[in-house]
Formats: sequence, structure tokens, C-alpha cells
Amino acid sequence: MARYTGPVCRLCRREGQKLFLKGDRCYTDKCSVAKRNFAPGQHGQSRKKLTEYGMQLREKQKVRRFYGISESQMIKYFAMADKMKGITGENLLRILELRLDNVVYRMGFASSRAEARQLVTHGHFLVNGAKVDIPSLLTKVGDVIEVKEKSRNSDKLKELVENHSGNTARWLDVNVEQLKGSIVAEPAREDIDIPVEEHLIVELYSK
Ligand code: SF4
Repeated sequence: MARYTGPVCRLCRREGQKLFLKGDRCYTDKCSVAKRNFAPGQHGQSRKKLTEYGMQLREKQKVRRFYGISESQMIKYFAMADKMKGITGENLLRILELRLDNVVYRMGFASSRAEARQLVTHGHFLVNGAKVDIPSLLTKVGDVIEVKEKSRNSDKLKELVENHSGNTARWLDVNVEQLKGSIVAEPAREDIDIPVEEHLIVELYSK
């Protein structure tokens, strides 16, 4: 399925909550959810009560949109999560968190996952010393992710370093000055700040 390329704020309004798809703008009063918190379209303000299937579908779509992944990727990740030990829904979120584009975003080297995906695709990052341009690469504990030497002088990355809050997920160890970080643990469910009921996704795909 093709990637959605339309206005991303519509996706947040469709889900009825902020998905933080636009970087810094999401934290300002220009956010579309803050201004118009109802679904887009002609019937957006007359929401019907969702069926059980509808709720499952919305949770799945929310996660897909949060991480910017296609339906086929989502199905693939679910199959992986289902084969793993532990709780399938949590496994699914953990896999998504460990995607390289998400790790770059969580490290604070991009202001949104979409920007992280673009930076990775353009070859600005090394994983364990090797250039990687695949945003979907699944990282693991011990991996070291850093900005490539040649890319360190780019205006975009300089700006990101200047504005870096210093706060990153506790499963990551980041050295902002060196534009480098490592994965020190697998993310636990409480580390994944996504307002989603992942068991509904499991129910949907288990039908
Ligand atoms: Fe979503 Fe960000 Fe747009 Fe707000 S500004 S609607 S959080 S993408």
C-alpha cells in the first residue's frame, strides 16, 4: 500500500488526538487538534459510536500513523511479535520503537519521525560504524547510532543540536555534542508514550 502523502494534521484530527507528526509545530497553538478537535470532512463533527471492530481498526490505524508505516509492514511486524515470547501487543510496540527512524527521532536527532526517516534515507547516519540508509532497520541493544562525519556540518543537524532538550528515552544513552547514541536496553511498555490500547490491535489481527 502506498504511503500517505496528504496533509498529516488530518490524520491527527481523524484519530482525535495529537500524533506529533509535524515536529515543533505540534507543541504550539497552531496545532490543528488544538484548534479543531473533530474529524475532518463534511461529517467530521457528527461522530457515531464506534463498533468493536471500529475501535480495533482505529487503534491499529493510530499506531500505523504514529510510526508512519504501511499496512503490509504492520502485518509483518505483527507476525514477528506474535512469534515472540511475552505479550504480543507489547512486542509489537517494542519492534516499532526499535526501527532505526524511530530511534533517531527518540535520540533527538530529528524533530519528527518523518524527518528522521528522511535523514536516514539520505544516508546521514551510521549504525555500528557502517552507513545505513534503511529507516525500517531494526536496531538492537548495544547498537551505536551516530551522525556521519561528513553530515555533521549540515545546517539542519547543527540546528537540531542547538535545540536539543537533552531529554531522551531512558533506554537510550545519547551524547548530543558527539551526535551519537547507543541502545542500552529494550524499551519497556512504560517507556513507550503512545496512548494506544494495543490489545485491540492484537484482537483485530487475530481474527
Ligand atoms: Fe498532529 Fe502535529 Fe498537526 Fe497537531 S500540529 S495536528 S500534533 S501533526
